[in-house]
Amino acid sequence: MSVECDKVGGINLAQGVCDTDVPEVVAAAVDKAVRAGANSYTRHDGVARLRNALALKLKRDNGLRFDPENQIVVSAGSTGAFYCAAIALLSPGDEVILFEPYYGYHLSTLQAVEAKAVYATLRPPDWSFDPAELESLITPRTRAIMVCTPANPCGKVWTRAELEWLGGFAEKHDLVVFTDEIYEYITYDGHKHISPATIPGLAERAVTIGGYSKTYAITGWRIGYSACRADWAERIGQLNDLYYVCAPSPLQEAVAAGIETLTPDFYAGLSAEYKAKRDKFCAALTKAGLKPFIPQGAYYVLADASGLTGATGKDKAMELLRRTGVASVPGESFYRDGSKEADNIIRFCYAKREKDINEACRRLEV
Ligand code: PLP
Repeated sequence: MSVECDKVGGINLAQGVCDTDVPEVVAAAVDKAVRAGANSYTRHDGVARLRNALALKLKRDNGLRFDPENQIVVSAGSTGAFYCAAIALLSPGDEVILFEPYYGYHLSTLQAVEAKAVYATLRPPDWSFDPAELESLITPRTRAIMVCTPANPCGKVWTRAELEWLGGFAEKHDLVVFTDEIYEYITYDGHKHISPATIPGLAERAVTIGGYSKTYAITGWRIGYSACRADWAERIGQLNDLYYVCAPSPLQEAVAAGIETLTPDFYAGLSAEYKAKRDKFCAALTKAGLKPFIPQGAYYVLADASGLTGATGKDKAMELLRRTGVASVPGESFYRDGSKEADNIIRFCYAKREKDINEACRRLEV
């Protein structure tokens, strides 16, 4: 869609790339780190300064205790963190429960390690799930479950009650719980991010995955991490060493500077900034007859595209691009092949500059 969007000089609300500003303290720290000599390989699981900063942040913001010496692995983004965790803890043929609509890289990563994704349904408009359906998915090969909160693409923020249910479910079936919490600081309307590992029963079986691509608007820097029990972290760390050697050295220092320096106002400001964009953009979608499923967190919105011309989500996204010059992602990217749901859903990303959001709203409303 990005290629198609470029061809028509459209507004690209397809890709999840935030083009907002990097916090000054983070940007300035790169130059300082390079000049201070932070240009070599680092320890395979990250520089001590960043692991220490992450341990403090995980305690302060998430209520989690991890030893920075042996329980945190800094990786090449949260994508790298999940890949290393998946290859460390899964064997070919293992089944992993994946909620649909899903984030494409979660599925691709499972496929890359030859695990089998088994789909569970998130039901609109609130993206709730049916515990009975989850129970019915369990087989002797079920090894893990993936929880993305706040979720891409649907914006679901898991509640405490849902996570408590998950804790019992994971314990009963002895599951690893991979969490993707990359949008942890972006929640709306009183929804609060809860790290699954804080729930009794999950601390020892969760691999908490996060990163700074979204929080500091540095998607190209590739700084993420996983945190979990020490024996798993050791295996994940060895694979991180094999695949990436280490995350970029000066950029690790700069992210550490951000974590050390930025105050709670900064993180609260992110939610406020994205809420204003969400509200403006969802109002424009409603006016355009593309009913939005209002997200509880993250910075994407799924919209009901049934009013657009075309048989599939792809046809509809292309028709919208042709007609308005606004690019979205078709539902096929978030649902398994042949799914009917995919035909009537498109996703927009509103992590864009104010002028681009305004222009997209204007074009949609015409
Ligand atoms: N996880 C989710 C749910 C995402 O939406 C994205 C990016 O769109 C990522 C992970 C990628 O994160 P990173 O840049 O840390 O690899």
